Amino acid sequence: MRYELMLPHQIRTAIDSHWPVVLPVGVLEYHGEHMAVGMDTLAVTGCLEILEREANLVILPPFYYGAASYAVERPERTGTLHVDAEALLPLAKAMFTALLRVGFRNIHLVIHHQTENFTAGMPTDLAFKLAARQAIFAFLEMERGEGWWGAKSMADYYEQQSTGDDPFNWIKAHPLMPASAMDGYPFDHAGQGETSLLMALLPGGVDESRISADEWYSRSAREASLELGIKGRERILAHLRQALGFERPNAQGARN
Ligand SMILES: [Zn+2]
Repeated sequence: MRYELMLPHQIRTAIDSHWPVVLPVGVLEYHGEHMAVGMDTLAVTGCLEILEREANLVILPPFYYGAASYAVERPERTGTLHVDAEALLPLAKAMFTALLRVGFRNIHLVIHHQTENFTAGMPTDLAFKLAARQAIFAFLEMERGEGWWGAKSMADYYEQQSTGDDPFNWIKAHPLMPASAMDGYPFDHAGQGETSLLMALLPGGVDESRISADEWYSRSAREASLELGIKGRERILAHLRQALGFERPNAQGARN
């Protein structure tokens, strides 16, 4: 369900049933002359919209204004909107704190921009990951008071780490396309991989007649295809089903 359309009783059901609540995080960035600038965010929302039809899931309004950087192209007349990570941090912390206040304890953010080395991180995901940690610490201190971690009731903290009971599992960050889940599917910027994926998710976001051979990173887009995009899409969906804790899609929602 889309959060903005939910009624309070539905929100209470989502909280009590521990539904995953997902924040799509992305950027608006130049992706060559042939792709929509929202690609990195549209890829996330497109996949989540498919999952929403097969499982209980809350999708928050997507956050588009990440730190795109001007590494690919200058912004003038090309479309990249960059917001510094320093500005993202307090906003993201406030958003996560608010979600915890509502009562959600199964929050996820899914991001696609600059995720080729997700463990080390890049400015947008690092800002959101740090904000998530800060929000959890602040929330726990507000609810339980200082010294909460050292309290006797926390003696099993290390045993609980792998379970949902560990507060630091309340908010998790996932790349849309971890190499481990993509089985050789090309990871690129505006090249064959991204172009194919957007063809499979949102055909209107790609104009193949505008693929330029001048840009090294988008040259491979000439090899893009809907068939490849569908393959990528299915691998992403399988990865997200696992990341969000769905066992298997239910029967009537199963897709091929
Ligand atoms: Zn991209």
